[in-house]
Amino acid sequence: MGIIDKFNDAQRVVAEKSKTAAEVSNLKRKILYEEERIVEIFADIGKKYYKNPNDDPASFKILCDDIDTRRRRIKRMRYELNNIKGYKICPKCDAEVNDRFQFCGRCGARLPEIDDTDFTSLEPNDYYTESSNNVFNADSTIK
Ligand SMILES: [Zn+2]
Repeated sequence: MGIIDKFNDAQRVVAEKSKTAAEVSNLKRKILYEEERIVEIFADIGKKYYKNPNDDPASFKILCDDIDTRRRRIKRMRYELNNIKGYKICPKCDAEVNDRFQFCGRCGARLPEIDDTDFTSLEPNDYYTESSNNVFNADSTIK
């Protein structure tokens, strides 16, 4: 292998790494955007109710559905993000598990492939993400 080939190889590795880094930051940015939108929609629901508590429930439903749509998007993007990083999140116990494993090392649950992961269902904790924790924890004391 000549010096030119070695150089090209090294260049290709660098290019692949920066492509992955770009994908990761792109996904993170999109997730953050959706999370911020969700917070705004929650505020909109609050304002709407404050102004007119007897408003047609259907008009609130539209906003709630919008939140769910964005939560599904976030769920999928978080899954893709983990896939790029080379690990899966256990659906049962939330442990980070190496991508190559089929079963969770902590609880033994079967780990889903991205193709059979259900992005339409939402678990109650699906919106408890790193950047939205403060917002959602703020109301978790109200029961
Ligand atoms: Zn597990």
